[in-house]
Amino acid sequence: MSTQDFAALKLFITGPTLLRPEVRQAGTLPEFGHRDSENLKRLEPAMHWLAELADAGDQYTPVLFLGSGSTGLEAAVRSLVAEDETVLNVSVGAFGDLFHSMAVANGKRAVQLKFDMGRAIDLDELDRALTEHRPGVVTFTHNETSTGVINDIHAVTELVRRRGALSVVDGVSIFGGTELGLKDSGIAMYCSATQKSLALPAGFGIGLIHAEAAEKAARVTNKGHGSDILKHLDKARKFQTLSTPNTTLANQLYVQLRYIMEEEGMARRFARHRAMREMVARWVDGLEGFRLFAQEGFRSPALTTVQVPDGVSVQQLKQVKETMRARGYLFDPGYGKLNTELEASGRAPIFRVGHMGDITPAMLEEYLGELGEVLAAL
Ligand SMILES: *Cc1c(COP(=O)(O)O)cnc(C)c1O
Repeated sequence: MSTQDFAALKLFITGPTLLRPEVRQAGTLPEFGHRDSENLKRLEPAMHWLAELADAGDQYTPVLFLGSGSTGLEAAVRSLVAEDETVLNVSVGAFGDLFHSMAVANGKRAVQLKFDMGRAIDLDELDRALTEHRPGVVTFTHNETSTGVINDIHAVTELVRRRGALSVVDGVSIFGGTELGLKDSGIAMYCSATQKSLALPAGFGIGLIHAEAAEKAARVTNKGHGSDILKHLDKARKFQTLSTPNTTLANQLYVQLRYIMEEEGMARRFARHRAMREMVARWVDGLEGFRLFAQEGFRSPALTTVQVPDGVSVQQLKQVKETMRARGYLFDPGYGKLNTELEASGRAPIFRVGHMGDITPAMLEEYLGELGEVLAAL
């Protein structure tokens, strides 16, 4: 086996995502010293662009965690949940469950509020849980990558704040794919990563941290080192990372954020994501027996989940994956655990169409055309 045998598949999964040739090329830019003035040329503009992309004003400090999305989520749990309080982990799918298991693994007093697969957070139910558990911190998922649901972060945060808790958001898969409006949102910390809607390789967790979160962290003990947001903030204020960053990725981050902000433009990027959501919905409409899975009004602009007709199995979706591979595409046969649960309860499984990052409507149209042919033969 040599690198020539590596398949150049077009990724329509939900992360990692396809890289533009310019982003791949940026991987060859010179490495640099992360405490040297060269660092500033990359990370100072990059961190400003991250704040702009989140519409954070100057209220949030962007932090680059070394790792992936999970690294930032775990840092949030370690830094923001105090020993004598409860964290309420609100889950609408597998990634909401992950946030809860992180809180438990870190010894936090954690309770979980779970919604049915495919449903968004229901505010009345959330309000009842807030009244019952009186949490100090509430975590929830912005864009649930396992089910294709996008929650209204502003409505949820408003309620959480009214009940006196801090709001921590997992936005790993949607940052760069939709408006965030962090400024004046009341969100204490928003977490993301590079390899989803930002269309970069994985390697940085991204945090947007409000001063209120920093104040809270100062009162929390046992935050660890790499999971202490205060240590990260200290370096981030100088546009540095806590420890040595992947300088290849830092170069790519600079190039990609400059492209997003100065060439494509945020508004056009977000509109492109929404347009692709509508394209997939129309395509599903034309497929006999297939249905959109996520609750109407809460469907993600970054990925679409499609429930197959009754009688079609997970095993068949795995065959679709191999047929699509032979055609040059990486198909996503659904989130494993979710499909296992669906099948166990007698319901049809789902597959996912990732349309995040730098996928274009033209690429998506070609993909859906091919996939439609393969699905028709089921
Ligand atoms: C991918 C994903 C994660 C995990 O991120 P990693 O970068 O793999 O650590 C967490 N939450 C959501 C919503 C995700 O989509």
